[in-house]
Amino acid sequence: MSGDPQDDCLFCKIVAGHIPATIIRETPTTVAFRDINPQAPTHVLVIPRVHYPDAASLAAADPAVAADVLREAGEVATDEKLDSYRVIFNTGSGVGQTVFHAHAHVMGGRGMQWPPG
Ligand code: 5GP
Repeated sequence: MSGDPQDDCLFCKIVAGHIPATIIRETPTTVAFRDINPQAPTHVLVIPRVHYPDAASLAAADPAVAADVLREAGEVATDEKLDSYRVIFNTGSGVGQTVFHAHAHVMGGRGMQWPPG
C-alpha cells in the first residue's frame, strides 16, 4: 500500500480540489470537511491526505499521520464547541464503510445510543 493518490477515490479528489467540499480545517497531512449527508448537527470527516483504504492500514503504514487525524478530530470538536462527541472509523462494507479512503467521522450535537446500531 503506497499512500499515493488513487484515480478512482472520491476523497483523493477532494484532497486534490477536483471535487468541492465544505472544508473547515486543513493541515499539511489532513483535511476536515462537512459530511454531504450529515447524521448529526455536527458531522465532519477528517481524512489523511495520503490514500490508505482504512484507518488501521493508515496507522500501520504511517502512524504519525494517523495520530494527526485523531488530533484533528479533537480540534474539530473544540471548534464546534462539542463537549461530547463520537469519533467513528467504519472499517469494512459489513459495517457501512462506503468510501475506502481512511476517514474519521466526528459527530456530535445530539444525544446518541450505546451500543451504536
Ligand atoms: P463511510 O460510510 O465510508 O464510513 O463514510 C463515508 C461518508 O462520506 C458518508 O457519511 C457519506 O455521506 C460521505 N460522503 C460521500 N460522498 C461525499 C461527498 O461527495 N462529499 C462529502 N462531503 N461527503 C461525502
